[in-house]
Amino acid sequence: MRPTPGLADERSVDVDEPRDPAPATDRPRLVAAHTDLTPPKEAWAEFLRHCLGCRVCSDVDRVCATAGDLYRAWEAASDRALRRLAW
Ligand SMILES: [Zn+2]
Repeated sequence: MRPTPGLADERSVDVDEPRDPAPATDRPRLVAAHTDLTPPKEAWAEFLRHCLGCRVCSDVDRVCATAGDLYRAWEAASDRALRRLAW
């Protein structure tokens, strides 16, 4: 029997019906809400944004503490992401 055009038959899937259980609220977000980036990518983007606009970072004879902090934040975000994958 051919399905009626415009009407769903028993084989169709309701796209509004949730298929998976809701994620636990205590889990950290996988994607930053304002950028749609993962936490490691967001941390890396923040590090790069700083480095591209920082006078200290552009001078090879100086050390930028802020860039160091942002780099360590990226490392920590990457480590957390890898640990989540390993579970
Ligand atoms: Zn800097």
